[in-house]
Parts: sequence; structure tokens; C-alpha cells
Amino acid sequence: MIRKFITRLLGRQPTLGKRVDVPHARHQIDASQLPNSALTVVRTLQQAGFEAYIVGGAVRDLLLGLKPKDFDVATNATPEQVKPLFRRALLIGRRFRIVHVLFGREVIEVSTFRATPVEHSAVDGDARNARALADKHHAVDASGRVLRDNVWGPQEQDAARRDFTVNALYYDPTRDIVVDYHHGLRDLKARTLRMIGDPAQRYREDPVRLLRVARFAAKLGFTIAPGTRAPIAGHAELLQGVPSARLFDETIKLLQTGHALASLEQLRALGLHHGLLPLLDLALGQPGGEAFVTAALGDTDARLAQGKTASPSFLFASLLWPQVASHWRAAQAEGVPAIAALDQAADEVLGAQSARLAIQRRIASDMREVWQLQPRLARRTARYAEALLEHPRFRAAFDFLLLRARTGDAPPELASWWEEYQHADAQQRATLLEQATRDSGADAAKRRRRRRRKPARSDASASADAGDTADTADTAD
Ligand code: ATP
Ligand code: MG
Repeated sequence: MIRKFITRLLGRQPTLGKRVDVPHARHQIDASQLPNSALTVVRTLQQAGFEAYIVGGAVRDLLLGLKPKDFDVATNATPEQVKPLFRRALLIGRRFRIVHVLFGREVIEVSTFRATPVEHSAVDGDARNARALADKHHAVDASGRVLRDNVWGPQEQDAARRDFTVNALYYDPTRDIVVDYHHGLRDLKARTLRMIGDPAQRYREDPVRLLRVARFAAKLGFTIAPGTRAPIAGHAELLQGVPSARLFDETIKLLQTGHALASLEQLRALGLHHGLLPLLDLALGQPGGEAFVTAALGDTDARLAQGKTASPSFLFASLLWPQVASHWRAAQAEGVPAIAALDQAADEVLGAQSARLAIQRRIASDMREVWQLQPRLARRTARYAEALLEHPRFRAAFDFLLLRARTGDAPPELASWWEEYQHADAQQRATLLEQATRDSGADAAKRRRRRRRKPARSDASASADAGDTADTADTAD
């Protein structure tokens, strides 16, 4: 009765699932796997008389035997009720208000059950006031995109507003049950990624879900349910309306899943890679671009698999490099010296890219440094080499050089020279520097001889020779 009234007042409600309590025998989650932090949060909330569950990715990963990245808790307590229950807790977010409970360096994210957004087209005149009220917390733009999401609701609605059935599972460690409203456990066992509700409508509400399909399909190796997959290409355009900062966050998540290569494959298969990183399309179209981007993403995945980190700046520096390198070559061909030509190329590429994807300023400046150090790594004089070793971005620039050398974009000898130089003692370094001077002298002589034989040559290396030979000896041709 009440629901019918609310439905009439607010418009059509999306499909709510039927609650199923799955016992231990069917879910077999090993509660001893849970960190104390998450258990403490759930128990504290329950002891204060609230409902509390571990939710989302952590439950999904536990069921799949994967190690959860982090633990989120969902509760019927409001953020204001949650906060005083913990000694160290912060109220955060505007678009999506939540509480962060801190345990040392660990953070447990506690979110209040949220109501499902209503379809505004279905709202009639009578309900205008109610809608205006709801809009204050639950704003939706003209295309149906949810701008704010702070209306609390019952758990069944919280489940219905989550993206995929396998992401809408709740685990109560006290009763040792998994609460499932949308056959999430069945889909998980069948390794299927299925959108809850009407997929097309859900993509309109939040186009970032298009990218989330690619991310989870790649990360979990799941099959995308046909109905979830079919509307994707037709809605790809909507990504253009996503604020660039959010697009950046989702892209980072996608590239740092440890399955960046698979994610890129998924994006391409789903026809989504075009809108995302406009210059990525171009990068993949550059000669050698495909090999370079593939190697960079493969490296990232390998680093993450070894428990290392992959910095966003290195990732984006790699993704945009084929484009930078092509502008760099072009500028040198017009006679701009190598280092200045690289600055110019970096400006052009970052400028074009930032219109679409807000690369944070700090990240953009780190990217630029990694690129700018490339021609400097080719200049192997005593003064330069020692200064470079001290440079805070040397490690990243050297890793970048290794990547370039592996894909035929830089001479392998240069990469191995730096490998040796870093670990050499003073005497060995002197020898290496002498050898470098001899080699670059020999290179320059070779080029001079070639130039005399072919005076009308106009390609990049010819004009670069006219500039600073030491800078370009290893990188320009
Ligand atoms: P990961 O392990 O990669 O963090 P996750 O499932 O925890 O995966 P998050 O992005 O951390 O993913 O989101 C947490 C949960 O919030 C999801 O499992 C899902 O239930 C819900 N969620 C997140 N983003 C959306 C969205 N755009 N639309 C609907 N539900 C979402
Ligand atoms: Mg998560």
C-alpha cells in the first residue's frame, strides 16, 4: 500500500528483486579470511541496533576465491549515525555521502542503503513537490544521468541500484549468510556479468557503467550476458557527457586492475575505446604504436602481479607516447632541436588530450618529465649522466627507456648502457663514459659520411643532425 503510494508519487520504480538468504553450505565464505577492521565495523553497527553487511566487490571476490582489494560495508544507519560509533571516522563525499572508518592505514568505507533513482519521465504533475524534494538529494540531468545520490532507502532498493548482479551480494558474518536479491550467486557460478534492471536505462543513468562492464569482464574473465552487451555500442556516445575527472578515475581503475591488456581488448570488442582516450586511437594507429601500448600495459599487469605499484603517470605517459613520438619526429624534421621538439610535442599531445580527459596537473607534469628525460638519457657525458642519476624521475625515465628499447623505439645498447652505468663504480663509470663518447663520435662521423653521399636528404635524422648531435644520436633515427 505504502509502496504503491510512493510509486505513484515518485514515478516508476525499477525492478526490485526478491530477497534470498543463502546459507553457509551454499556460499562457503571463509569468515576467517575477513580482516578484523571489516568485522569490527559490521559488529559495532549491529550491536548499536543497525543492519550491517559486507557488500559489493569484497563479497564477489571472496566467493570467487580472490583476495578482495578493499572492504565496503552497507548499513541502514545514516552517515550521521555511523560516525559517532567509531573513534576515527570521517564523513566524506557530496555526490555520494559516505563514512570512512580508519584502522591504521586501512579504510573501511561505510555507505547507507540508498533508494533507487526514479524515472523522471514517469513523474506526473501531482508529484512535482515530492520530486523537487527528492531532486535535492537525488538529482538527475536531462539525459537521465544521476548527479547526486543521497536518498536513503531499504536494502532491496540498495541492491536494485547496484550495477551487476554479482556486485549486489551482501554478506553478514554474524549470521554467516549471503543476501542475494538478483540471482547474483547463480550468475557468479556461471561466470556471467549481468546488469540489474533494464541495461539501456542503467547506462543512461550512469554511462560510466559502460566502462565498468569492460573492467569487470576483463578482471573476472566473465562472459557478458547478451542483454547487457547488446545496448553498449549504441550508448557509447554517452561517455562524452561524463565529467572528465570521473572519466579519468574510471580509466585509472580500468588500467590498474592487473588486467589492463584484457581491459583494452574488451573496450575494443565493445566499441568503447574511441570515446575514451581519443589519442589512444591515434596511438594504436601509429607505426609501432600498437606494439608499444601493448608492451606498456603488459608491463603494468606484470608489475601489479608481483605486488608492485603502477603509477598513473607512467601509464598515461606510455599510452600517449606513440603520439608524442610522432609529433617529436615531425618537429625535428622541421629543424627544431631534439629537446625543444619534445617539449613542443608534449604540449600538443597533452593539450589535445586534456580537453577530454582531465589528467590531473601533478600527473601531467610527471608524464612530461618522463618524456623530457628521454633525449637527455641519450646525452651521455659525465656531467649529464651523474645529474640524471640524481634526478627524482630517473627510475621512471629509465623504465620507460627499457620499454622503448624493447619495442624498437630506442637503441637497446642505450638501455643496457644505463643499466650498467647505474650499478658501476667510479672507475667503471669513467670507462663507460669514454666508450659512449667514442660511440657517439663514431655515430656522428658515420652520419657525416652518409650526409656527404646523400646531400638532399630531408628526413628527421638529417635535420636533427643539424641540431644537437649528442641529444639525438640515439633517439632521432
Ligand atoms: P573492485 O574490486 O574493482 O573495487 P568493486 O565491485 O568493489 O570492484 P567499486 O567501484 O569499488 O567496485 O564499487 C563498489 C560497489 O558499488 C560495486 O560492487 C557496486 O555494487 C557499486 N557500484 C559502484 N559503482 C557503481 C555504478 N556506477 N553503478 C552502480 N553501482 C555501482
Ligand atoms: Mg571496491
